[in-house]
Amino acid sequence: MTAIKILRTVAHVRQWRYECLKNRKRVGFVPTMGALHDGHCSLVNQSLKDNETSIVSIFVNPSQFAPHEDLESYPKTLDSDLSILQELAQDGKGVEAVFVPNALDIYPSGITVDVLKQKGTFVNVVGCSEQLEGKQRPQFFRGVATVVTKLLNVVQPTNIYFGQKDAQQCVVIKNLVKDLLIDTKVNVLPTTREPNGLAMSSRNAYLSPEIKLKSSIIFESLSKGEELYNQQRSHGEVPVDIILQKIRQYLYQTTDFEVEYLSINHPETLEELQSIDPQVGAIVSTAVAVPRKDSQQTTRLIDNVILSKV
Ligand code: AMP
Repeated sequence: MTAIKILRTVAHVRQWRYECLKNRKRVGFVPTMGALHDGHCSLVNQSLKDNETSIVSIFVNPSQFAPHEDLESYPKTLDSDLSILQELAQDGKGVEAVFVPNALDIYPSGITVDVLKQKGTFVNVVGCSEQLEGKQRPQFFRGVATVVTKLLNVVQPTNIYFGQKDAQQCVVIKNLVKDLLIDTKVNVLPTTREPNGLAMSSRNAYLSPEIKLKSSIIFESLSKGEELYNQQRSHGEVPVDIILQKIRQYLYQTTDFEVEYLSINHPETLEELQSIDPQVGAIVSTAVAVPRKDSQQTTRLIDNVILSKV
């Protein structure tokens, strides 16, 4: 397998992209913040299957972190990330390039995490960025939408890949691509989980083995809600209260976990629902703050399950 090209500047990616265009190659793109795990790899493998060439970006995006969040301590493991990517292959095809920009490449006007001091151009996807995660992290989706717009402008991929694990992010990006008339196809792939059900995440590195074990309750509780919904949906509209009550029975068992939200929303608009139309389905999502292994702080684990339409 040929070695992955490491592209560090926007100009280099543009040059690489131009060659792909000349050779009529479909380009698959997987944006990440690094500290790669099997969840990221599932996206890359799908990109390798769907496209003649694939590129991954590794960039810890400052603008999506609030000043009190973990930008500084976010795991940075570039060497092992590159080895992981080097090993991935589908039908003899591997990842061709990795884009590892620095912050000034992506934010030519500079970037600070203090929203009030920021200068430059930012992208806001209004209507689906304010609820759920957006309520807890008001600057988060503005940061995500901004960086994804910039990366899309540079890479101009045929296909871009995201994980269902970050369900609201997928809705925000789909709307962004639609509203800004960006010529790419957004592909959403299922959440990859640890054997105990815990959704894989780079932030799981903050957890002790004991907390990791206990955190399996998050997916277990959501799955209990899904089970009940599946039993009820043949009778018509399902009231969200009974599903939420079922989930709470399990989710609120662990005393050192703090549930930040638990909500059932429309799968496309993210509007909060009172009842679920089985013809439409819904998404049940939660964020739980759990203790970190190395400090008095907590880390937030998010997860969701799709309540599918009939
Ligand atoms: P991140 O590096 O956390 O910004 O994630 C980069 C991409 O990987 C995003 O599209 C995430 O939704 C996706 N991703 C993260 N964790 C998982 C997972 N457990 N399963 C599937 N996709 C994931």
